[in-house]
Amino acid sequence: MIKKKILVTGGAGFLGSHLCEKLLNQGHEVVCMDNYFTGQKQNVVHLLKNPYFELIRHDVTMPFFIEVDEIFNLACPASPVHYQYNPIKTVKTSVMGAINMLGLAKRIRAKVLQASTSEVYGDPEIHPQTESYWGHVNTIGPRSCYDEGKRVAETLFVNYHKQNKVRIKIIRIFNTYGPRMHPNDGRVVSNFIVQALKGENITIYGEGTQTRSFCYVDDLLEGMVRLMNSREDFTGPVNIGNPGEFTMIELAEKVLKLTGSKSKLIHMPLPTDDPLQRKPDITLAKKELGWEPTIPLEEGLKRTIEYFKTIV
Ligand code: NAD
Ligand code: UDP
Repeated sequence: MIKKKILVTGGAGFLGSHLCEKLLNQGHEVVCMDNYFTGQKQNVVHLLKNPYFELIRHDVTMPFFIEVDEIFNLACPASPVHYQYNPIKTVKTSVMGAINMLGLAKRIRAKVLQASTSEVYGDPEIHPQTESYWGHVNTIGPRSCYDEGKRVAETLFVNYHKQNKVRIKIIRIFNTYGPRMHPNDGRVVSNFIVQALKGENITIYGEGTQTRSFCYVDDLLEGMVRLMNSREDFTGPVNIGNPGEFTMIELAEKVLKLTGSKSKLIHMPLPTDDPLQRKPDITLAKKELGWEPTIPLEEGLKRTIEYFKTIV
């Protein structure tokens, strides 16, 4: 195995911290860069005793200079509550963060992977979503700071590749869950589990008939690392997600069953522009990366519930 030096931006977040861990376990040197907006030192504190792990407080919107072989660009708040808190900053993080990491990759000839999202498809009119679908996004709605920021980031990646020959990879991540999700980030899996464990009402937004496809973190990261290591001329974008599709009512019922909670379901207003349905077509990931998810929702939920039991 070739030992690589790898930069993970947003490395103290939910996905980033698991990624740092996985890369260290594979024998690489990892530099974790984060401004701790939604991530926390707690997520990576157990890695600090590893001499091949380095933690740097830095904002990805500011230029950053380092010598590495690969960059995983994950810095960006991901939950609607967090990314809508300061929408201008969210756009800056996606766009200026992409420019800074691409500029760095160009200068040091590193390979760079962008954590894009199923949100580039917006409220999709085709189902399941394939990579060739251009999306249905409201440019001025409350989700646009995230959706459009991520779309511009993809544009930047593709053009640095075409114009400057930067080696790029774009992963479109569908809803991913697991241990170390922030208990207050407002995402549906963490909300439902925390509510169930505390015996509070389970908050279903709207009728709860909207669907999502939930991927367990270990599966997602396997896909992400395979993409980084994929053949040179495969740039993506590639969907990585679990095609199992569930309504929010079905998710709530599973969480109640697995926690044994007596919490009641209550309905709250559906947020503006909340996508009605979402499910990845993973044909491309299967073909190019030999990847498909292995952890069914119930199994992943059990592991996630065990984690939340230790913190709530
Ligand atoms: P997260 O909020 O836990 O992690 C994001 C990390 O980025 C945090 O540690 C945060 O402090 C850091 N960050 C935010 N702004 C920054 C800035 N300006 N400079 C430096 N660091 C900054 O979210 P996550 O779920 O781990 O998501 C990681 C990445 O994956 C994000 O780019 C997100 O858009 C993408 N993604 C995640 C999902 C999912 O379901 N988890 C789905 C699609 C895309
Ligand atoms: N949702 C819900 N109750 C909650 C939190 C979210 O019903 O307490 C719904 C939300 O309206 C959306 C889905 O769950 O339809 C997924 O929301 P999340 O914020 O996790 O991610 P999104 O895919 O919308 O970015």
